[in-house]
Amino acid sequence: MSPSPRRVTPLADATVLLVGAGGLGCPAGRVLARSGVGRLVVSDDDQVEGTNLHRQVLFRETDLGQPKAEVAAARLRELGAEAGHAVSTEARLQRFLPETAAALLDGVDLVVEGSDNFPSKFVVADACMLAGVPVVQAGAVRWGGWALAAGARRGPSHDLCLRCVFEEVPTGDALTCELAGVVGPVVGVLGALQAKLALGLLNGEAPGTLMHYEGRRDRLRETHPVPRAECPHAREAIDDLAAVRYVGETNEAPLGR
Ligand SMILES: [Zn+2]
Repeated sequence: MSPSPRRVTPLADATVLLVGAGGLGCPAGRVLARSGVGRLVVSDDDQVEGTNLHRQVLFRETDLGQPKAEVAAARLRELGAEAGHAVSTEARLQRFLPETAAALLDGVDLVVEGSDNFPSKFVVADACMLAGVPVVQAGAVRWGGWALAAGARRGPSHDLCLRCVFEEVPTGDALTCELAGVVGPVVGVLGALQAKLALGLLNGEAPGTLMHYEGRRDRLRETHPVPRAECPHAREAIDDLAAVRYVGETNEAPLGR
């Protein structure tokens, strides 16, 4: 079977939703704004904190206590203008949850997901697949991480997605950035990789790339895993986000952080 033609979205016409304006979303957003993505929507319900300033590179000390989504949206607009691009931005002071997903994805061409816990990553992965929106996801813990360019085609020949890579929401001892911490430059690398993968998808590149980064030895590896035949999106087994359990038996991480 020949692959279906990929849609090319001119950058100036593209709307990208950044889920989370943290250590991944800040560097990814910078590159996308400077590259001339026409519209950037930032969803985050947190405030700027002093302990994160080294890796959340859109914020200044004078922003402490301000809503991250609002500060990021204003800064991304400036960054685009500094490079000669009229980037329109929008702040959404809310988390990406099953009940907010549809409104946040309305009119969006691509999602860049940079939350710090697995339940949120799975909500975004499923919502994007159901809405037909490609998503670039990433995660980083301590010295390493990964970035995935996931497509949005469901069914037997579905595109590689987060559920192909992780199968289930990791629970119990699974490390998260929130619990284990992360080395600042490592998330910077992965956020930049997310921007690179996002620009590729908007330019019509095929999804399905999974990057691995190991920061202690500076190793970067690109893989193209085969989508799992047993993935729920291959079987179209997920139709309703509200019916899916996203927080595991022993994982008490709050959804959406
Ligand atoms: Zn899958």
